[in-house]
Amino acid sequence: MENRFKSGFVSIIGKPNVGKSTILNAILAKKVAIVSSKPETTRDNIMGVLTTKEAQAVFIDTPGIHKPHQLLGSLMVKKAESSIFDADLLLFILELTSGIREDDRIILERVKESGKPAVAVINKIDMVSKAGILPLIDGLRASYGFLDFIPISAVKGDGLDILKQKIFEYLPFGEKYFPDSQITDKDDTFLAAEIIREKALALTRHEVPHAIAVVVDRMSLRDIKDILDIDATIYVERDSQKGILVGRKGDMAKQISTLSRQDLEKRFGKKVFLRIWVKVLKNWRKDPNSLKMLGLA
Ligand code: GDP
Ligand code: MG
Repeated sequence: MENRFKSGFVSIIGKPNVGKSTILNAILAKKVAIVSSKPETTRDNIMGVLTTKEAQAVFIDTPGIHKPHQLLGSLMVKKAESSIFDADLLLFILELTSGIREDDRIILERVKESGKPAVAVINKIDMVSKAGILPLIDGLRASYGFLDFIPISAVKGDGLDILKQKIFEYLPFGEKYFPDSQITDKDDTFLAAEIIREKALALTRHEVPHAIAVVVDRMSLRDIKDILDIDATIYVERDSQKGILVGRKGDMAKQISTLSRQDLEKRFGKKVFLRIWVKVLKNWRKDPNSLKMLGLA
């Protein structure tokens, strides 16, 4: 029998905070996208490639589709929407805890307009009684011709094997897009900045997480020893936010730095020397030039 390879782009879409980035990391068994309990964490499309002997799935983790309030938000939604049009398969992520909400309906409209093959993935089944799954599936079935409905828990790993198997099943026949060794389209500098942002997000509240951007200014390997030097700047929008991130006697900056260093050492397998600065970049989320400087536009 002829052995035909399958390949394709799989866009992971859904409202903010349903677990899109967690699902990508779980499928790849590697952290390529950061995760947080705060909505709108992912700001750019992030590619993750899963290659087996029979197939290659190129996943695109997208910023959550939502009603944007600022220039940054509308750029994020555009990135998510554009990934729908480039996709061979859509993974529409919902969470069992909240059912189908207004934000989900907005995304359902995009899915309908695209007419693309789509799988509905119901995440976070570890959190509530599974009795809600069937009514949710009925609601989804009435709204679009989904190929499948797959309940999972990205955190616990439940349902992931079935999900992967189904994704490969629905991919079209085609050649490899990327070499086997390639896992993401982002470089180490991006990942390092994201890891630092993840820690800063985890330690702050209210409006502060949204006002945080991180740039790695320098990342270099020392010649003699296996040591990675990383200099990074955390940008916020106001002086008051800078005060929070630095903290009393620099407590907060120190905490962010320690947690980041531990994760960076794990990710890069090297000893890391990390230096972090906190700076104010007034209202950067509204300013096209600042967004460009931060690599977000
Ligand atoms: P995204 O905005 O859709 O990319 O969502 P994230 O991947 O950043 O996850 C948002 C939050 O949901 C984080 O706190 C995750 O730890 C949590 N989360 C993701 N998947 C699951 C799951 O299967 N079960 C539970 N209980 N929490 C989850
Ligand atoms: Mg995300």
